[in-house]
Amino acid sequence: MNTKRELTCIVCPIGCSLVAELCDGKVVSVTGNTCPRGKVYAETECVAPMRTITTTVKCKNGEMLPVKTATPIPKEKMAEAMEIINKANPDLPISVGDVIIESVFGSKIVAAKNLD
Ligand code: SF4
Repeated sequence: MNTKRELTCIVCPIGCSLVAELCDGKVVSVTGNTCPRGKVYAETECVAPMRTITTTVKCKNGEMLPVKTATPIPKEKMAEAMEIINKANPDLPISVGDVIIESVFGSKIVAAKNLD
């Protein structure tokens, strides 16, 4: 059975309106994308949506450190991932790219700012 799903591409700020056509749970066509990244986004979003997390953690000295997932994680794991990330309490100094948590649902959590 064919179904259509309307999406807004979130890969870049343009936000193209996409329509994905699915047949038996598989994406068979994507329209509305103005670049190949939109097609990949729609295909992933319809089958196994992924998200990047950007948030902050409190360092031992009380300063807030911006952190992010190094690679996207499954969308349905975001709440659980936030519970894990919120428990981090790193020591300074920290440089951009330092690993704050080794693995959260398949992604490292890395620092997004230098803090001395
Ligand atoms: S399809 Fe391409 S141009 Fe359009 S929002 Fe997605 S990434 Fe941006």
